[in-house]
Amino acid sequence: MSLIGELAGMGTRRVHVVGGGEPLLRRDILDIMFAVKRWGMEGVLTTNGTLFTEDLVREIVKCGWDIVMFSVDGPNADIYEDIRGVSGSFDRVYSSMKAFSRVRTEYGVCKPLLHIHCVILNLNFMVIDEMIDLARDVGANIVTFDKYYPEYEDLILRKEDLPVTLKNLQKAYQKAQRYGIYINVEDFLSLWMKPSPNTRCYWPWLYADIDPNGDVLPCCFSRDVMGNIKKHSFRQIWDGEKYNNLRKIFKKKKFPDFCKDCTLYPGLINRVPLGKALHYFRLV
Ligand code: SF4
Repeated sequence: MSLIGELAGMGTRRVHVVGGGEPLLRRDILDIMFAVKRWGMEGVLTTNGTLFTEDLVREIVKCGWDIVMFSVDGPNADIYEDIRGVSGSFDRVYSSMKAFSRVRTEYGVCKPLLHIHCVILNLNFMVIDEMIDLARDVGANIVTFDKYYPEYEDLILRKEDLPVTLKNLQKAYQKAQRYGIYINVEDFLSLWMKPSPNTRCYWPWLYADIDPNGDVLPCCFSRDVMGNIKKHSFRQIWDGEKYNNLRKIFKKKKFPDFCKDCTLYPGLINRVPLGKALHYFRLV
């Protein structure tokens, strides 16, 4: 908990509890969330949404938590469970989202915002617009799409899937406008399909990833350890030589290898022809 106080003292605005497994498996998850809010920072929790209980939902709403992001890669049980490989899991995540909506209404609050994050795969591209129907049904406020980072080659979107994917992203955008749901389709497509030469990444100045073992990384794509909070304070690592050297590299637009798997990357280097960008995203 002293880390949370240190982060607040350094002016941190947002703490995102995410990754390295399901955060709700931590027994002290509520202590962490309450501490983040007590120190006046914004809190975001990314979860698979299957482990919420009614009591936990109520505590999270009561503590004033800001955003709960559900990783949901399908709008119905068939597709979701095909991707996740766990029978009955869609019902659990669906019920959790519904529970947050109900408890928010009961307490007369609008937080936490409910955010559905969907990775586009060759198993779900044909129904991605239905993610907006799901969001509307459960009372979610935000839907974001992301490309797939190729851990499993067989899930990557194929070239022949692209026309339907684009059509469904357009449909998703129109539905989201109609229902008043925030959606990232414009940003996603501009970075994915037409990367701007002016795109910059400010992550090394704005963000740090702290792993469960205490390693501090400049980005979740990186394994380049800047330091470890068991040996040094976060402030020492953040202001340290290694971090500052990385910032110098970014300023010169010489991006490290780990950036090559990032949605921003094609726009970070120079103007990248569409064909090359598509190749990068393994669509051609
Ligand atoms: S991987 Fe992407 S977000 Fe991370 S530092 Fe590189 S460009 Fe920035």
